Amino acid sequence: MTIENNTAAKKAEKLVAVKGMNDILPPSVPRTEKLPDSALWQWFETSVRQVMASYGYQYLLTPIVEPTALFVRGLGEVTDIVEKEMYSFTDSMNGDKLTLRPEATAGIVRAMNEHNALYNGPLRLWTIGAMFRHERPQKGRYRQFHQLDVEALGYAGPDVDAEMILMARSLWRALGLVEGQHVRLEINSLGQPEERKQHRDALVAYFGQHQEQLDEDSQRRLHTNPLRILDSKNPAMQALIEGAPRLMDFLGEASRAHFDAVRAVLDAVGLEYRVNTRLVRGMDYYNLTVFEWVTDQLGSQGTVCGGGRYDGLIGQLGGKPAPAVGFGLGIERLLLLLQELKLPVPDAAPHAYAVVPPGTPLPPVMALLEQLRAAGVRVQQHAGGADGPGSFKSQFKKADASGARFALIFGGDELAQGQVSVKPLRGGEQVLRPLADVSSWATSLL
Ligand code: ATP
Ligand code: MG
Repeated sequence: MTIENNTAAKKAEKLVAVKGMNDILPPSVPRTEKLPDSALWQWFETSVRQVMASYGYQYLLTPIVEPTALFVRGLGEVTDIVEKEMYSFTDSMNGDKLTLRPEATAGIVRAMNEHNALYNGPLRLWTIGAMFRHERPQKGRYRQFHQLDVEALGYAGPDVDAEMILMARSLWRALGLVEGQHVRLEINSLGQPEERKQHRDALVAYFGQHQEQLDEDSQRRLHTNPLRILDSKNPAMQALIEGAPRLMDFLGEASRAHFDAVRAVLDAVGLEYRVNTRLVRGMDYYNLTVFEWVTDQLGSQGTVCGGGRYDGLIGQLGGKPAPAVGFGLGIERLLLLLQELKLPVPDAAPHAYAVVPPGTPLPPVMALLEQLRAAGVRVQQHAGGADGPGSFKSQFKKADASGARFALIFGGDELAQGQVSVKPLRGGEQVLRPLADVSSWATSLL
């Protein structure tokens, strides 16, 4: 092998992540791509847990891999996801057709059907996890991304539709986002299948009269799924779409009343929204209420959260028919938004950094740090390599970089007197504290 070939082979060997699939790194690791860091991520998760608990939603986990048929049956064959975005493969051991989940709802419904979970009454559920779609990677659009997914199964009334929307608002508030300013709510009603059918006929007639203006995707959809033409992002088609018959005008009395009831709650709590009669969502399973939370700050990846009612899906996937409503929130997109807005994130840095000069006996130091941690203090201990802990100076540099407010200095003299020096790193007086009575001073570090 020539030298050149050899380096080429080495290069080819370099192991990197799959395109469009990202590492979420700790803040201290420099990142090349604009992505949220893990501190932001954890803060999001903490906020989510609090909000979910405050509405009485229970957490669950379902597998990342599901039978391909689940998504084909659940999402509809003529959807972007099923047509071209699914990571599907054949299990080489047994020939099963499998898919990496592109969304969470179908898996959750499958699980609840399988365990007869709705037998004892309705359920409010949430999960967080990775989803996979083979799309063109760009800012806010990835091949592996994460969703918060919230579902209420077995509830028919508009109260739960409104609750879903209010929960999202509570989450925005917990994270410091202002609704109406950073994120805006759009809602629509897709009515019931019979109303959709009448609207569909009108759509086919309308677009059929203007066939020459349809792009290739829309030509194909004209007879398979004309409603999805309204979802087209092609700027050249917008004028045509603007003039299309509105589903809203085909809603019967019951659908209209359901929609009005949702709106009445939003109005009562002063939540502003826009009725967007062109909002249709990407999956076939939706009916009645659909909604999206959108932002103007992320370019064309502007939808951070989308959901709606899907009363037919549970039955369609083999369960005893029951109504349901839910939403999915794109975590990367939302965190990019928080990052862009530079909203303050609660400090997760250690309260204190333990400086351990060379030669310090470790057992009493580590025993003390354990007591501090038990008292709720976040302490990062300086840890050395095989050659020892490193100089005083380099340890202080690390203490500074850690973001801690205090350095705990375990010098030989102090230890001999049963004490430790507490040095504020952002101004203030250094003090001595007794090792024997941690509880008397631990809280001063918080
Ligand atoms: P879009 O119109 O942007 O493709 P979608 O309608 O396909 O979104 P949903 O299936 O409703 O998206 O998923 C819910 C949320 O998940 C979206 O609102 C978005 O925030 C996020 N999301 C969807 N696809 C991706 C992706 N490829 N990368 C990152 N986030 C995504
Ligand atoms: Mg999509």
